[in-house]
Amino acid sequence: MMSLLRLHTALRPRVVSAVTRSVVEPALRTPYLSTARWLPEFFTWPEQKRRSWQRDRLRAVLRHAQQEVRYYRDVLAGRDVDGVDLAELPVIDKAMMRSCMDDFLSRGWRDIPHIAKKTGGSTGDPFQYPLDRRAWMHIYAANLYFWESTGYRYGDRLVMVGSPPSLQSASEGVKSRLRALLEGRVVSAAGCHTDPKTSLERALTAGRAGGVLWYGYASHVAAMADAVLEAGVRVPAPKAIVTTAELLLPSWRERIEQAFEAPLRDQYGCNDGGIMSQECSLGRLHLAENVSIVEILDDAGRRCRPGEEGDVVVTNLHARALPFLRYRIGDRAVLGAATCPCGTEGTFLERVIGRQGDSLHLPNGKHVSMHPLGKCFFDARHVRRYQFVQPEPGRVLVRLDVEPGFEADERSMILGEVRRLVGSAVDIDLTTDEPLERTRGGKHRVVVRTFDSA
Ligand SMILES: [Zn+2]
Repeated sequence: MMSLLRLHTALRPRVVSAVTRSVVEPALRTPYLSTARWLPEFFTWPEQKRRSWQRDRLRAVLRHAQQEVRYYRDVLAGRDVDGVDLAELPVIDKAMMRSCMDDFLSRGWRDIPHIAKKTGGSTGDPFQYPLDRRAWMHIYAANLYFWESTGYRYGDRLVMVGSPPSLQSASEGVKSRLRALLEGRVVSAAGCHTDPKTSLERALTAGRAGGVLWYGYASHVAAMADAVLEAGVRVPAPKAIVTTAELLLPSWRERIEQAFEAPLRDQYGCNDGGIMSQECSLGRLHLAENVSIVEILDDAGRRCRPGEEGDVVVTNLHARALPFLRYRIGDRAVLGAATCPCGTEGTFLERVIGRQGDSLHLPNGKHVSMHPLGKCFFDARHVRRYQFVQPEPGRVLVRLDVEPGFEADERSMILGEVRRLVGSAVDIDLTTDEPLERTRGGKHRVVVRTFDSA
């Protein structure tokens, strides 16, 4: 094992791939790399062929659900699943599944090869669920496929930036650690602190590790960029940086690209439900169609047209232990129209707006989501991070983390933008002295709303 790890950098990907496919995959009975290597072919299939592949998987999952899952036994009672259209199924969500987990779990789910998963969630209230090994495999394969689209090759050195809990797979235990070792993963600096000292140290470690790809939370990489720019040091650049798990703010992107001179690709995905996507060079999020069928629904539950914002609803094509069929994951997004000009086939999201909870709820009943909120800072040159705190409908506090040079005119410009968004009925305060709150998992929060509204 050790001699394998010391292999010459150029040779490493070929050897690691060969070992993975001939030894690791059969041992785990999970051909994740082979699936990743099949995906380039899958994505060049004509659309009809991909849709028909998806329909076959969907039918199999539906048939299983009809026979083995109480909830779907009722919903699909007496139906021939071949004739069932996805749109006929009820939309479900986490709260609903949680309230009667036994109705949604497959009979004998423990015997289906699965991984125990847990979501952190911004509320800090974890959701535990089994994810079929096969479903995990398709997500991981898509992840590898997307990484390889940046010039990284499986087996190249990969730097995990920080160690946020959602990027770890503790439940997979020893096998997963072995796989990480084989893959050449390096954790550049543990923990989820993003103060300047930790961030600079993390950037220097990442640079020293000579990673071909850096992978981590957007806010962590942004904090590294800030620290590097402030210290005026140069860090050896990776081939690409892939950020994940958080909404990448435009100002973060600018500073990351400035500090590290490497192309940045943002990923959007989550395991519950099962969605995986990565940006192309034009900033559109291309969906992994091997993982799931993604719908964007309006408030009445109808499918949105491309360009319209709606709820992200996901149907996993492989989950049987706990099927995720038309599962509302709690994010808002906009579906792209037709084919992306970048030339890549398949469905893509124009943009992701963020969690449904990540919005201000105004006294007039209107909600202001993260996208327009972010626009308040498009012309702000000295704002690193921002956070909106709303303790009651009529009060908004804007917390800013700013660079030296932040002056009164920038402050009043921001206040003007926020005022324009929230109207005159809301008191607005702005502070640069308070620390910005994070989730328990270390994610940056754009909106902290501390009251419930109807
Ligand atoms: Zn594209």
